[in-house]
Amino acid sequence: DALELAFRRKTKITAYLVDYIRKYAEELAKRDPKYVYKIMDFCGTHEWTIVHFGLRSVLEMAGVRNVELVAGPGCPVCVTPSYYLEQAMKLAFDGVVIYTYGDVFKLPAINRVNGARSLAEAKARGADVRLVHTFLHAVIDAKKHNKPSVFLGIGFETVAPGYSEAILKGLVPPNLKLMSLVKLTPPAMFYALDMVREKPTDYPISGVIAPGHVSTIVGGKAWAPVAEQYEIPVVVAGFEPNDVLTAIAEILKQLKNGEHKVVIEYVRAVKWEGDLKAQSSINTVFETVDSAWRGIGYIPKSGLALRERFRQYDALEHFGIPDLTPERWQYDLPPGCKCAEVNLGKAKPTDCPLFMKACTPDRPIGPCMVSVEGTCAIWARFGGGG
Ligand code: SF4
Repeated sequence: DALELAFRRKTKITAYLVDYIRKYAEELAKRDPKYVYKIMDFCGTHEWTIVHFGLRSVLEMAGVRNVELVAGPGCPVCVTPSYYLEQAMKLAFDGVVIYTYGDVFKLPAINRVNGARSLAEAKARGADVRLVHTFLHAVIDAKKHNKPSVFLGIGFETVAPGYSEAILKGLVPPNLKLMSLVKLTPPAMFYALDMVREKPTDYPISGVIAPGHVSTIVGGKAWAPVAEQYEIPVVVAGFEPNDVLTAIAEILKQLKNGEHKVVIEYVRAVKWEGDLKAQSSINTVFETVDSAWRGIGYIPKSGLALRERFRQYDALEHFGIPDLTPERWQYDLPPGCKCAEVNLGKAKPTDCPLFMKACTPDRPIGPCMVSVEGTCAIWARFGGGG
């Protein structure tokens, strides 16, 4: 059984945790045997851990039937509107050097630009698209060639201090501009928790595994409003299988006891206050704005834009590109793609008729099939939901 499996993997702690989860789940089942406790793992890396290590199967083999792990919108590449990708491709074809993270390279746009559907295809057609690991790599490279350049600043709160510190320290050369596409996770969590119930009869989310990396910046305190408003437990977890299992056990324990607290399981990296220096740096350079999420639409106060006094670094402003407004926003997922539902925890990748048929990691159709943090890509690579 699951305990035996865990022992065979020489993970006695895993067996211990699974046993606790089973006991708590059994106690909860006594209240209502049919009730399903949905736990949202917000972050793509948590979903990776769950699927890669088969944690859903481990729980199932342990006889835990009333707990469902639901993936959330924690993949920044998946939720970046196609509009910005298309603008980046246009700039690339106009001779601007485009710097991007590797998992954006094959991200498919909804509209082709000069025949290209992605930056990879734009590069194949002669555009200068360069893959970098960090903004600083782009800074160093752009200084060498002095050509007009744009960095696609895709990411959550974790990447923002890298951008703000480079700007504040005066490292960014005049030829390099930033397209700030940073998304904020707490507003998205509120949105997902509201949207996950299509019908009043659908089970709500009973607990949340909050993102560990993001919380190193924003701190455990960022999730207190979620726990308070929805009266559900929130556990900030690390990314080892035992971190995730501990989070599940803690959530079930709180549900059993009628509690709804924020608990930091990832104590080796996350503090309640977060990284105050990073928060100050971000707030100096960026302001919070309403932001569009791919296939979903605008979520209030869920993005970061450069403040007025740092606009000389703004790629959209510099190249005269109008920003995406609610009036201009259009549904930007390809026909049949269920990425929006997958990101909001309303569907599984296997609910999409294109999954592993027309849409595969080698030939992605939707954005969730591209990044290592995309739920469809994770399910595709490791053979289902784990
Ligand atoms: Fe979109 Fe492909 Fe996932 Fe379907 S399988 S939801 S098309 S990314």
